[in-house]
Amino acid sequence: HHHVLFATAEGVEAVVDTGHHHPEAIVWQRLTDYCAQGGYELLADCREGRITVEALIDELERAGLRGLGGAGFPTFKKWQSVREAPGPRYCAINADEGEPGTFKDRHYLEGSPHRFLEGALVSAWAVEACALYIYLRDEYPGLHRVLHEAIAELEAEGLTPPGYIVLRRGAGAYICGEESAMIESLEGKPGKPRHRPPLVAQVGLFGRPTLVNNVETVTWLPLIHEKGAEWFSGHGRHGRTGLRSFSLSGRVRRPGVHLAPAGITLAELVEEYGGGMAEGHRLAGYLPGGASGGILPASKADIPLDFDTLQEEGCFIGSAAVIVLSDQDDLRAVATNLLAFFSDESCGQCTPCRVGTEKMLALVERDEWRVEELERLSRVMMDASICGLGQAAPNPVLGLLKDFRDELASQQVIVKG
Ligand code: SF4
Repeated sequence: HHHVLFATAEGVEAVVDTGHHHPEAIVWQRLTDYCAQGGYELLADCREGRITVEALIDELERAGLRGLGGAGFPTFKKWQSVREAPGPRYCAINADEGEPGTFKDRHYLEGSPHRFLEGALVSAWAVEACALYIYLRDEYPGLHRVLHEAIAELEAEGLTPPGYIVLRRGAGAYICGEESAMIESLEGKPGKPRHRPPLVAQVGLFGRPTLVNNVETVTWLPLIHEKGAEWFSGHGRHGRTGLRSFSLSGRVRRPGVHLAPAGITLAELVEEYGGGMAEGHRLAGYLPGGASGGILPASKADIPLDFDTLQEEGCFIGSAAVIVLSDQDDLRAVATNLLAFFSDESCGQCTPCRVGTEKMLALVERDEWRVEELERLSRVMMDASICGLGQAAPNPVLGLLKDFRDELASQQVIVKG
């Protein structure tokens, strides 16, 4: 049940992909098939001067395309700021997809590697990059083979100079999905986030201005151009615009990648796209943005899920990895699982995160959760960690303390102070 995704002109199609594909079993769209459907026309228009970079930037602004790796920064602005920095420049695509619960990039890469490569080459063209790097999650070995072959097809057809696209294997570390750590890793160094400023748009790969875009973000480019900016921005709910690829997992009937309007609520997403809650499960809460985006209770299932909207709750959507929890899920296990993950994945560069994640894990493993101590530790981690990992690590525990007191009590977690 493998689908090549993307909405039809008639409307948005819900796409389900729950497959754990064996490397040999990936069926992907070859170059000839992609070209037969108008593939690589946008790239040719760009290269042959039929469309200017200014026009394309304007199109992306009207479409409202934002970075879909997690930060949600407007794509056209990122392109502009890299273009303003003096060359030579690089383009690097972040295909590390390490956020727990996120599998949308894999879905796009498996189905349509050439649509992705066209979008990546257009991005590289837009900033006049002297090379295009792709940093692929090492846990996706099947995709490494697919991309390797797809790039070879492009080179054989003369659509990209040999060696222009550099495919690199990730280092198996969550932190290498953070853009500056990814750049360190691409340079052959340990993947440790850099202090900023400077931004990677100014000082990135090998010290040069670098455009870092996520897989899904660039995969949208050919389609947005084909169907028009207004087609993309015409979707949306509750005052938000655009489309989002939700990686939906947990206690729902139909987990998978669901393409849905931006701003959809959790309740709507589960009912309309997820087929409802799994048999015998009642919604207890959800993680709106993977491991880092915090946790919300069932009573807050009607907040639009999008960039910016969850801020008041101390949460964020990130890469739109929605994990649905039910009354049968053990909340202490949720907290310890997430903190064990952060503690394992901390790069160790700064103390608040290296020591803080370990200490917080030990604190939530106790019978009794001491609120004051947990909050004090959270504050230090949020204020003093270098990067998003340490800053976001306390989110799930803070969310549980804020909104799940009754549930914690009924699960024998004693909350004091
Ligand atoms: Fe490394 Fe954690 Fe510090 Fe980020 S916050 S730099 S992951 S130790």
